[in-house]
Amino acid sequence: MVAFAARWALRSEPARVRLLVVVVELLAVVFVAAGWLLGGGLHGGDIVLAGWLLVLGMVHIEAATGIERVRRRVAATAYFDLSSVWTFAAALLLPVRLSALVVVVLYAHLWLRVWKPAGVPMYRLVYTAATVVLAAHAAYAVVAPVRDAGGAHGLPALGWVALAAAAYLLVNNVLVAAAMALGGGKPSARELVGGVDDHVLELATLCLGVMVALALTADRWTAALALAPLLVLQRAVQVRQLEEAATTDPKTGLLNAAAWRAEAVHRLGRARRTHGSAAVLIADLDHFKAVNDTHGHLVGDAVLAAVAAELRAEVRQDDLVARFGGEEFVVLLPDLPGTGVGRREVLAVADRVRRRVEGLGVPVTTSDGPLVVDGLSISIGGATFPADGQDLETVLAAADAALYAAKDAGRNTVRVAAAPLVPQARTAED
Ligand code: GH3
Ligand code: MG
Ligand code: MG
Repeated sequence: MVAFAARWALRSEPARVRLLVVVVELLAVVFVAAGWLLGGGLHGGDIVLAGWLLVLGMVHIEAATGIERVRRRVAATAYFDLSSVWTFAAALLLPVRLSALVVVVLYAHLWLRVWKPAGVPMYRLVYTAATVVLAAHAAYAVVAPVRDAGGAHGLPALGWVALAAAAYLLVNNVLVAAAMALGGGKPSARELVGGVDDHVLELATLCLGVMVALALTADRWTAALALAPLLVLQRAVQVRQLEEAATTDPKTGLLNAAAWRAEAVHRLGRARRTHGSAAVLIADLDHFKAVNDTHGHLVGDAVLAAVAAELRAEVRQDDLVARFGGEEFVVLLPDLPGTGVGRREVLAVADRVRRRVEGLGVPVTTSDGPLVVDGLSISIGGATFPADGQDLETVLAAADAALYAAKDAGRNTVRVAAAPLVPQARTAED
């Protein structure tokens, strides 16, 4: 289920987030308490089902512990654990006081075995568990009338289960995204909503949850069969997240140079085939060594991350931004729809970035207390494809030469390659 982006920290969060956390936790407690007070006696069968779900869930957590620990460390976006197989099965089968018990015990186990060793603070577990309790309640509320009316079969049953899953996902995702959105961390839309892959995974997990619920109401032992596909699913997630970590620069969250090159070659190939154009910018912070020398490398790192965020925010979603190395960044700008990328557009984009960095103040905490690092500047060189080169290396070389020209011109400046480094082939008519 969805938990938090790794950097979500309650202490540093504004009061509105703490308020949301308290309200959500109180609501969960109220629902569960109301269930106990008003729900009458429990069915012995329900208690047995809860026991099965707890045992299976704990076996799953134990089997997956190693995998989960690695995954939790590398997860940069919303984190999905797969325990919703058991909590969603509980939501479908059990009234809220029992599904809440399953959620609380499994999350306590998860925290002890996975989250605590990975350094995740306990309040996140408590908030996440509270959102899952509320999500389970919502799902149960969707299927309860059908159950009371004697149950559904065939296609209608599938429809009800899908509705219950939608209610479950909605409550959980909205509450977690709300906590992140209200916070001061300015999460990206991708971080708030999660990627397509995340949702496919979540859906697969809930499907397994439905199968577990069905197995438990038929032949209980067969529910254990869900463990094998679950572990494979977990491995698949790990591979995907390791892939993401291998292509990301850890200090800035941008692509790393190798991943950028591979994708840029691919995109230039596409531009060549479609007779499109593209541009490359190389940006280098001016006198960055002085920032390190004055404030230390940790402050330097914070400045790098802040500049990276500005760069990312200034260009379009589709533009490819990477940390090229040290205090250098590189951007590939593909075609604007319907227009070519000409020198004037490149100059305009580069100058917007330059002005943004010029106006940037980075709040940092040093041993002498908080301070704002400003007075930064960046020099940028740009070059275009195909005008300045027929392949990535040539365009990069042209952009690099333009960057040197910008530095020579006094820094805090933008230059775009003026002429092809390699003369273009000419036709007889020229
Ligand atoms: P110029 O205007 O000519 O670009 O001057 P500069 O000081 O930015 O360039 P120089 O190449 O002399 O120094 C680059 C500095 O960037 C030195 C290096 O310590 C720093 N740097 C490179 N990578 C990192 C990093 O990951 N973190 C920090 N804090 N500093 C880094
Ligand atoms: Mg440099
Ligand atoms: Mg520099």
